[in-house]
Amino acid sequence: MSLGGLQAAQVATACRSAIRNGTSLNLEQMQTLLDQWQQTRHPRTCPHGRPIYLSLEESDLARFFRRHWVVGKSHGI
Ligand SMILES: [Zn+2]
Repeated sequence: MSLGGLQAAQVATACRSAIRNGTSLNLEQMQTLLDQWQQTRHPRTCPHGRPIYLSLEESDLARFFRRHWVVGKSHGI
C-alpha cells in the first residue's frame, strides 16, 4: 500500500469509528472526549476536512437569547 493509500485508509477508519451523532455518553465519556479532542493537531475538522467545531462568541449567544449580560454577573441583568 502506498503512503497515500495508507493515509486514506487511516482517515477512513478514523471517521468510520468515530462516535456517531445521537450516541448517548455519560459525563465522564464527554469529558474524556473533550480532553482528547483538545490535544488533537487539527481540532476544527475531521481528517476529511469536514468541520466538527463551531465557535460561538458570547455576543452571538446574547443575540440568540435576546439578552445583554455582563460576564461574571448572574443577577441584575
Ligand atoms: Zn471525515
